[in-house]
Amino acid sequence: MRTAMRAWDVVVVGAGPAGSIAAHELAKRGVHTLLLEKFRLPRDKPCGGAVMYRGLRIVHRVPRRLVQRPVHGLRFVMPDGSSAQFRSEQLIGITTNRAEFDEYLAYRAVDGGAELLEDARVISVEVRPDRVVTRLSDGREFSSSFVIGADGVNTVVGPSVGLRPSRKNLYRVGLGMESDFHVGEERVLEASGGDPTILEIRPVENRVSYGWVFPKREHLAIGIAGAAVHMQPLRSLFDGFVAHLEREFGFPLVIERRRTHFLGADGVRNKNVTGRVILVGDAAGFVDPMMGEGIAYAMQSGLFAARVMTEALERGRYDEAFLSRYDRLCRDRFGANFSMAEWAGTRGTSFAGSVLRVAAGLRMSSDILAMLARGDIGYSDIPPVVLSRLPRELPHLIGDYVRNRLLRHRKDNA
Ligand SMILES: Cc1cc2nc3c(=O)[nH]c(=O)nc-3n(C[C@H](O)[C@H](O)[C@H](O)COP(=O)(O)OP(=O)(O)OC[C@H]3O[C@@H](n4cnc5c(N)ncnc54)[C@H](O)[C@@H]3O)c2cc1C
Repeated sequence: MRTAMRAWDVVVVGAGPAGSIAAHELAKRGVHTLLLEKFRLPRDKPCGGAVMYRGLRIVHRVPRRLVQRPVHGLRFVMPDGSSAQFRSEQLIGITTNRAEFDEYLAYRAVDGGAELLEDARVISVEVRPDRVVTRLSDGREFSSSFVIGADGVNTVVGPSVGLRPSRKNLYRVGLGMESDFHVGEERVLEASGGDPTILEIRPVENRVSYGWVFPKREHLAIGIAGAAVHMQPLRSLFDGFVAHLEREFGFPLVIERRRTHFLGADGVRNKNVTGRVILVGDAAGFVDPMMGEGIAYAMQSGLFAARVMTEALERGRYDEAFLSRYDRLCRDRFGANFSMAEWAGTRGTSFAGSVLRVAAGLRMSSDILAMLARGDIGYSDIPPVVLSRLPRELPHLIGDYVRNRLLRHRKDNA
């Protein structure tokens, strides 16, 4: 079946956070926008479902029903079993159910004026001199001035237009496995040490990757992720991680369904635009290479793409040179974060453990964590912030040092 082509300003492929934010922003700016999603919504998505505040900021108001738990802090469990916890009075994020969160964002785009087509699986995108033609698996075709590839890590749009390198390099792509554990509210509280507003990050047995225990209302989201090259054999790493938690929590964790997924990576090192096409979110590889966080980056890149495309439409510029300002915006906003995360990631969990142990002794650390999560600063701003706050911190540091020395002295003489 081939239907007559109707022309759109922008076709957005994929109704995840990146695509729906882009579609909403475009439609709000009066751009004639079609959002194509291969599944019927709500659709399942393997994900821990922690959305940092800097992502929530983009949505403005997130309905209460989507908040499984407000997030106020992070606890890092070290390879030796000790932990470092950072807690802020400020909201630093939420945990949510991705199927519900993503459905909300897609219909928010519709409310903003975009048209959504579900059960619409794109199989190819062809850039012509005067337009782009997007083809679906059922034969339908759509013509538009621009296409945004928001179709996740297994992007069809990217390779169709010659973007995204091969996924064969397992150092450059992430791999994760996760499952939900419906243990009931009481055990969610127990597992989170009585504070379900804390996200827990733990080392994985391979000592280079991380796992997580995220509290939801009635269940725990538990998973592991890391550079694909270190994640083999994935299933036994995951099962070992869960078995370890089971022993520690003292109650059974029954694996309902293991879900495996690649994670995008390497986004800022690659070109994510070509004439008439921009890649966003996981399709572009915008995932923190150490922690696997990608939702906020997906939404921010969707916003950047929508803004650049609106301007391109206004100026009648469809060329790569004009659209490449999108690459620059992403590199400026995400580049330092990803480089630092990658650098820390290659040093393994023991290195991160020793840095975090020192940080946990500093009162400013929780403030810095909140600033990072809320998007007030990036990773590269940490050193200047630390330096500017050290004078205020010094009396506490000296006090803590003297107290610890006295305690040790008393212990030695007891
Ligand atoms: C196990 C795991 C846990 C994670 N946990 C977290 C976390 O807790 N917090 C966090 O911030 N990040 C997390 N991430 C990363 C996060 O899930 C992604 O970065 C985020 O989903 C990227 O959003 P996106 O919109 O770019 O892509 P996606 O969310 O993948 O959305 C892409 C959409 O495109 C659709 N699509 C795909 N192909 C086609 C096609 N051919 N035609 C039409 N539609 C198509 C898909 O159905 C989907 O709806 C996790 C990832 C994994 C794998």
